[in-house]
Amino acid sequence: MKITDPFAEFGSMLFDESLMKERLPYPIYKKWKETVAKEDSLDRNTADAIAHAMKRWAQENGATHFTHWFQPMTGSTAEKHDSFIEPGEDGKPLVRFSGKSLIKGEPDASSFPSGGLRATFEARGYTYWDCTSPAFIRDHVLCIPTVFVSYNGESLDKKAPLLKSIDAISTAATRIVNIFGDKEVRRVTPMVGLEQEYFLIDKRFFEQREDLVLTGRTLFGAMAAKGQELEDHYFGSIPSRVAAFMKEVDQELWKLGIYAKTEHNEVAPCQFEIAPIFSNANIAIDQNHLTMEILRKTADKHGFACLLHEKPFAGINGSGKHNNWSLVTDNNQNLFEPGDKPAENVRFLVFVCAFIKAVDTHAELLRMSSSGAGNDHRLGANEAPPAIISIYLGSYIENVLNSLMGAERTVEDHPDSSFAPISGLAYIPKDNTDRNRTSPLAFTGNKFEFRMVGSSLSPSFANVVLNTITADALNEIADQLSDLKYRQDIRSKALEICTDILRQHQRILFSGDGYSEEWVEEARRRGLPNIPSFIESVSALTSPKTISLFTRNHIYTEKELLARSEIMSEQYVKITAIEAKVLIDMTKTEIIPLIVKEIRNLAETAANLSKPAAYFARQLDRLNEILDRMDKMVTLLEEKDREIAGISDTHERGIHFYHEVSPLMEQLRQIIDEHEAFCDKKQYSIPSYEDMLYHSH
Ligand code: ADP
Ligand code: MG
Repeated sequence: MKITDPFAEFGSMLFDESLMKERLPYPIYKKWKETVAKEDSLDRNTADAIAHAMKRWAQENGATHFTHWFQPMTGSTAEKHDSFIEPGEDGKPLVRFSGKSLIKGEPDASSFPSGGLRATFEARGYTYWDCTSPAFIRDHVLCIPTVFVSYNGESLDKKAPLLKSIDAISTAATRIVNIFGDKEVRRVTPMVGLEQEYFLIDKRFFEQREDLVLTGRTLFGAMAAKGQELEDHYFGSIPSRVAAFMKEVDQELWKLGIYAKTEHNEVAPCQFEIAPIFSNANIAIDQNHLTMEILRKTADKHGFACLLHEKPFAGINGSGKHNNWSLVTDNNQNLFEPGDKPAENVRFLVFVCAFIKAVDTHAELLRMSSSGAGNDHRLGANEAPPAIISIYLGSYIENVLNSLMGAERTVEDHPDSSFAPISGLAYIPKDNTDRNRTSPLAFTGNKFEFRMVGSSLSPSFANVVLNTITADALNEIADQLSDLKYRQDIRSKALEICTDILRQHQRILFSGDGYSEEWVEEARRRGLPNIPSFIESVSALTSPKTISLFTRNHIYTEKELLARSEIMSEQYVKITAIEAKVLIDMTKTEIIPLIVKEIRNLAETAANLSKPAAYFARQLDRLNEILDRMDKMVTLLEEKDREIAGISDTHERGIHFYHEVSPLMEQLRQIIDEHEAFCDKKQYSIPSYEDMLYHSH
């Protein structure tokens, strides 16, 4: 029997460092390494040599085209393919890929959102190679990760600010590490591991629902007789059709060098999660974009639709993207690693306190960074973190911090687990972080897990914010420590700073049930912001505090922030307007005709009976009454929609939409669901929640 290695193709479609080392002349490889480490810049010859090696490799692997792969502010990725072929002098085609084409591209950028950064007369935008993220091949195309900027150098994408924020946190964290005596360290890298949740339903059902096709979520649908009460889906065995899909997803990801690691059923029926092993923030985010695309495409091949929306179905859990974030030095020290004696590990305390200060100071911004129109339906629902930002540290670390403030131990220590389940297992790894699944930002041993991020979003901006706010807080601390010479002085000053930070910012620490009503009350008492909607949170982007934060750290200019806020509002308005239109359309052209047909059938049947049962009159009354309510509500919704469309300021329009249109949509939905619960199921032509959630696999 021939045994094939399932990992044989790992990384086969990735032009990674080992391949560069193998295929490039050593001086060229070295030059590239220096460029990545920002010790030197790339010259023309080096670029040509790298491009040449890349082209050879791509050709050997069947690629015929190349593209600059970038992340415009639409939130997804974009590419424009060019073939490698050019006419040669002898009339024969010439396969060419120059250093210039590798480094710089000029996609026709006029239809990407720019928030007014680019007037149409100067529609040019440029893409530049991000040499810190490896090129890869997808479907015969060599994809080169790039940043996307305007003619004037303003960033038009999600990657350029991310790279700047990675530099900012590196500089700030390195300062602290150096101050604490580790002079060897020259770079600190934010590490990110993204857990991606999604739903998988049968494509037949998906295609029959205009709302799913056009908006990614169901705008109505009565709950199935069985919801997720039993939680029997969670970690249950994976159905074979889904397993086949997952196998192919893994293979595709492995080819791209993505360490897809865990897969399991989530709590809601038809919901799953995939998580790769963490890597540096830039690469992890590129990989997450690829993972989302591969999930969608592979689902389609297997007769499924992969729903990445934050809340495809009301009444059951939505989907998030858990963003695990840590800081690791170039000599592989995790700066959030408490070690055996965290109370004596002052450097660790400084990093944790800087983070606490950062999060409390910029809570609104962080909330905004993890959201979009879709996440409004998830945050604050009873299974997702609320829209209130708080940090959960776990009793172990919290006690350490409390004693720093001279306070009593307020939290029970996690019991030291001396439980030996099986005699003979002498070594049982210890887990000293207790878990609180209801916290939006939890410390999990040596990293923070940010759980608010929406499943469909690019995780880029959330990381820009995490990096920048932490860099800012670290710099402030470093400024206070930099004049001190002696180790003891540095330690005692640092402890003083930490204590001050804790006194000022301890309100952000919360270890109770984040899903409870009491917390909403308690948070209000503590003065923590609770911004219920995404559109309201967009204002955080242009507050004086945010503008000063981002300009001080050279991440965004004020102009770029204004543009971004315009784009965010515009996207919200577009999404909600489409949702309203689809709901109106489905009500008028699918549901109302269904009711009319039901009424006609019943009336005809009753008319043919000499003594119709009381049921007929009752059911006809009910249908007639619900039809009337539905018709009135849809008219109201249409009027409101038209009225609001006239508001010229985009953000203002978004706010009105949230407060006035969304509630009407919700009311209309309730009427539709009410009807679905008593109508003739066999005649109901729109796939129901029961169909989609229990008959998909
Ligand atoms: P859970 O579901 O319990 O939160 P998982 O194991 O599913 O945990 O996912 C944890 C994610 O965090 C994985 O992507 C993992 O690679 C990542 N991770 C682990 N350690 C770190 C770290 N130091 N920095 C960033 N991410 C990390
Ligand atoms: Mg998690």
